Amino acid sequence: MSRRAVVIGAGLGGLATAALLGREGWEVTVVEKNEEPGGRARVWRSDGFLFDMGPSWYLMPEAFDRYFALHGTSAADRLRLVRLDPQFRVFYGGGGVYDVRDALADNAALFDRLEPEGASKTARFLAKAREQYDLSVRHFLYRDYDGIAGLLGRDIVRNGLRLGVFGSVHDLVAREIQDERLQQILEFAMVFIGGDPKKTPGFYALMSSIVLDRGVWYPLGGISEIVQALVGLGRDQGVRFAFGHPARRIRTAGGRAVEVVTDRESHPADAVIANADYHHVETALLEGPSRSYRGRYWSRRVLSPSAFILYVGLDRRLDGIVHHNLFFEKDWNAHFDAVFRRPAWPDRFSYYVSCPSKTDPAVAPDGAENLFFLVPVAPGLDDPDGMREAFADKVLEHFEGLIGGPVRKHVTVRRIFSPRDFVADYNTYKGTAFGLSHTLFQTASFRPRRKSRRVDNLYFTGQYPHPGVGMPMVMIGAELTADRVVHEQG
Ligand SMILES: Cc1cc2nc3c(=O)[nH]c(=O)nc-3n(C[C@H](O)[C@H](O)[C@H](O)COP(=O)(O)OP(=O)(O)OC[C@H]3O[C@@H](n4cnc5c(N)ncnc54)[C@H](O)[C@@H]3O)c2cc1C
Repeated sequence: MSRRAVVIGAGLGGLATAALLGREGWEVTVVEKNEEPGGRARVWRSDGFLFDMGPSWYLMPEAFDRYFALHGTSAADRLRLVRLDPQFRVFYGGGGVYDVRDALADNAALFDRLEPEGASKTARFLAKAREQYDLSVRHFLYRDYDGIAGLLGRDIVRNGLRLGVFGSVHDLVAREIQDERLQQILEFAMVFIGGDPKKTPGFYALMSSIVLDRGVWYPLGGISEIVQALVGLGRDQGVRFAFGHPARRIRTAGGRAVEVVTDRESHPADAVIANADYHHVETALLEGPSRSYRGRYWSRRVLSPSAFILYVGLDRRLDGIVHHNLFFEKDWNAHFDAVFRRPAWPDRFSYYVSCPSKTDPAVAPDGAENLFFLVPVAPGLDDPDGMREAFADKVLEHFEGLIGGPVRKHVTVRRIFSPRDFVADYNTYKGTAFGLSHTLFQTASFRPRRKSRRVDNLYFTGQYPHPGVGMPMVMIGAELTADRVVHEQG
């Protein structure tokens, strides 16, 4: 008789794990509170526009390749991937606009212009970042850290000093490069893993290699195509989906989860896989004695930022921007302070603008432009209507200044998504957009456990356990969780 798994949440982590368990012959049901799959990577459609609501950078294609290969297929079969060139455009607050190109050699002149010998210094830095990346793939990313004493494995500790593990990413960059603009190019990716470059362990400089060496990709049709591909793989394996069915409780007996109770049904289970935010699962779905962590644990975590997001449809095309655009304030530390140290709406802020309609005609009507603005803000920030509307105007006004042309009078669709929406839509702790930040003590064995300490057949998947935040990491985590479930409960 096949074993029954209930997956709580149809984010990328839940979908990817469900499809793998289905492939192993499990009878899988996914219960999802929202009416559609994808979680943070879901879509919003309005007036002919298709907005990816969360992620937009398809990085580390090899992680997706490996996942699809587990199903005997490939990313190339399931997705129409294009490699972006330029990778992104930077608008610098102190003046200057520059494109970072896909081929490193094409950036040499730019890097030399930003700093004397900038190209060779960047090459030295990237050699280190590349080594970190290779080391992490060999020893770290695909390893399940639950219960393993020691942080990063023998190799990494042995090489730690040389790789700059014990300083910050900023320290590592600043050792080679003094120019603030070039530093920003090499450090901004830390925000992808929910961190401040001055606080993120130097080890994560590998993110720079991921972006600059391995390329920035885009699946035509949008990130939602990944979600659809995973749902398709699941359906092929007989996975059942119950959308609009929030889990209300994980019922336990004798230290095991016996069923997941939703608004409408109960689903008996031989294993439960929680993809919903860890804090929500522990505090809202489990009784006190079944929780692995106490309240104090959560209040002491370093949360990644929340996000102020603005989805905008324009009735015109825009010159002066590319697919991915970054505006960096000259002094971006004040913004990081407002996110991590003294939570407040930032006065002066760096932000990201995605314009997928530059690459993909499917995401906007003819002659229109699809824009996504993201400003990192502090988790738990108060965001009443007036405040967030005013902030949206401020962002658009700044953007008009940046590109030197009218935007606001061409807006036909506009929607704000801010901390309170992260809580309402995904049950996130304090509205965090990216979950737990990747500080040293929230890495590897220090991340929340993949398997509950108290409930023998309850597992976690998604961005909370190792390896953590970001789509590629979540795909890797899905493999680790599915393997564990199959070996321990199969
Ligand atoms: C704005 C933004 C931009 C990002 N940009 C990038 C990027 O460019 N590139 C990249 O690689 N990564 C990016 N990320 C990170 C990436 O999107 C996430 O790491 C990943 O999508 C998380 O997937 P998950 O499955 O862990 O969680 P989620 O997507 O949050 O899935 C959890 C699911 O559980 C559901 N749920 C919650 N409570 C319940 C309940 N009680 N019952 C049933 N279901 C429940 C939720 O509705 C949700 O669908 C971004 C994230 C955000 C928010």
